[in-house]
Amino acid sequence: MSARHILVINCGSSSIKFALIREDREDTLLSGIAERLGSAESELRWQSGEQQHSLKIPHAGHRQALEQLLPQVQQHADGKLSGIGHRVVHGGEHFTAAHLLDAAALAAIRSVSALAPLHNPACLQGIEAALGLYPELPQVAVFDTAFHQSMPAQAFRYAVPEQIYREHGVRRYGFHGSSHRFVGRRAAELSGLPVNDSSWLVAHLGNGCSTCAIVNGQSRDTSMGLTPLEGVVMGTRSGDVDPGLHLYLGRKLGWSLQEIDNLLNKQSGLLGLSGLSNDMRTLEQARSEGHAGATLAIDVFCYRLAKSLAAMSCALPRLDGLIFTGGIGENSPLIRSQTVAHLPLLNLAIDPQANARSVGGQFGEIQAGNHPRILVIPTNEERQIALDTLALLPD
Ligand code: AMP
Repeated sequence: MSARHILVINCGSSSIKFALIREDREDTLLSGIAERLGSAESELRWQSGEQQHSLKIPHAGHRQALEQLLPQVQQHADGKLSGIGHRVVHGGEHFTAAHLLDAAALAAIRSVSALAPLHNPACLQGIEAALGLYPELPQVAVFDTAFHQSMPAQAFRYAVPEQIYREHGVRRYGFHGSSHRFVGRRAAELSGLPVNDSSWLVAHLGNGCSTCAIVNGQSRDTSMGLTPLEGVVMGTRSGDVDPGLHLYLGRKLGWSLQEIDNLLNKQSGLLGLSGLSNDMRTLEQARSEGHAGATLAIDVFCYRLAKSLAAMSCALPRLDGLIFTGGIGENSPLIRSQTVAHLPLLNLAIDPQANARSVGGQFGEIQAGNHPRILVIPTNEERQIALDTLALLPD
């Protein structure tokens, strides 16, 4: 049988990110984004190898953008696209794994949309457009939350009355599942350990950041919660704050819940702390020039991250290693070393030279001497989504 190709789609309300993956190749054949959909500035941009392309598609919606994109995809797939994998943010408790898209699955995704009111309806728009264009092609939904459905109740339940959980689904779900799953498996492979007998801490550090405890290939705890706002400090998200903050700001400033939500999701995190930027590269540069806000933002980011990793260690029977991934985790020796410096009680220590070398999408093993492994592993959420899709294709 010739190698199969999967198109991976990640829809936002006005954008579609896409990647074409071939099962026997680690690289991406074609990737890009359709942006500002629904406006006069709608544009499709894609790259294959070194070549960059763009196409203006004024007023295109999701369906029109996919129509423009699919001939490119078919050309790069030698006309043999085997399936489409859709990234879906929230699967609630309904989805514990990826799922073939049929009418029942669509209804179930719709039924959990209240948990992700901005994201799931956007995903559904993309799914419906793709199903309309390719009704015969197998299509699969891969959920950010599904990997974390293996968490035990002691990790996923909040200490609120049972009824709030049972009737309204208020619990920890966790996100970044495809990334945590991908790097957890890769870490076991690279370390020569069986996935089903391995035990990892993961720090996924991108614009969004989360930690995870993975035991025997399964998530046992994670820092994000009901929404992606909980946990460690992120680019513009605050991570954990006292829930009493809402009432305090409401009373003191007369702010609505919507305004407070906007503050915590869009104006906080690295951006809020530094008063400068949500981008770690900018902050590292500013810190080196003595910028106090950037220095504080990095200090809080690393300390809070280390605290979260130490908390995650409660879910592990032993520590086979700590994994750094995501744009910051894969590229910032400073953040890795400053975080690990807070974790001597986990016996973690970094080799400075190996740390400095492990940048730019390279795998690296960066622990000092006989200390537990610290691995830098480039994540590949698109590949994980493609693998999950391939596993569900009919023979
Ligand atoms: P992601 O969402 O995974 O693409 O990660 C985005 C984050 O990675 C941003 O905060 C970037 O500033 C950060 N990042 C990318 N490259 C570097 C780098 N060389 N050093 C520090 N941070 C980086």
